[in-house]
Amino acid sequence: MRKKIVAGNWKMNMELNDGISLARTINNFFLDHHLKDKEVILCTPFIHLSDVSRLLSAKGLTAGAQNCSDHKSGAFTGETSAAMIRSTGAGSVIIGHSERRTFYGEVDTLLAAKTLEALRNGLQVIFCCGEVLAEREQQIHFKVVKRQLEKGIFNLPVEEFRKCVIAYEPVWAIGTGVTATPAQAQEMHRYIRDIVTEQYGKDVADDTTILYGGSCKASNAAELFANPDVDGGLIGGASLASEEFCNIVNAL
Ligand code: PEP
Repeated sequence: MRKKIVAGNWKMNMELNDGISLARTINNFFLDHHLKDKEVILCTPFIHLSDVSRLLSAKGLTAGAQNCSDHKSGAFTGETSAAMIRSTGAGSVIIGHSERRTFYGEVDTLLAAKTLEALRNGLQVIFCCGEVLAEREQQIHFKVVKRQLEKGIFNLPVEEFRKCVIAYEPVWAIGTGVTATPAQAQEMHRYIRDIVTEQYGKDVADDTTILYGGSCKASNAAELFANPDVDGGLIGGASLASEEFCNIVNAL
């Protein structure tokens, strides 16, 4: 069964106590308003993970990381391994976010290695893909997304692929206030499901969760989530305010 998910990407925001307090408020909300069949993941900076994982008690609410190393352990100063993330109690990790691709030069091969390492350590991977504005203007957005998925996760054996969630995030919509229209989101999500079908078959494609990300907020979430191939959202800026974030979850 295809999972419905809202994941918050806090990015590099929140000092420790502010993050704990945000997580606590969200947890209290979902203790009162059960998530039923939905999952909510708070992807925090590394320093929050252990505290946040420990305090989350509402069913369906878990913590996740925003990145992991492609290495197991050793002399990699400043890096955090997938095993370390798992040891905090976190269950997921975002891989391939456009900010990692753009600002830290993370290329397809590195992202494939990070994905393998995350899966080996029992983490659910939220694998991001999406085109920049110039690529959409040149009408090569489908080709770009296909390449990112082929190089990043389509080489996985099916049982490992099943542990991945795909997040389509058009880069021109991230943090800009410009959201993809529901039709643009649906068109790309349908395309992604079609190429998953070609690669892994219809049953797997039907079960694959595909999230939309890019200036999603409480006021536009419902119309984006109403599309048949949009299974939830990856939320950046709007995940930093508890009420706004909980309203997005409610829209799902
Ligand atoms: C993101 O960074 O994953 C994101 C979707 O950001 P925002 O919601 O702020 O556009």
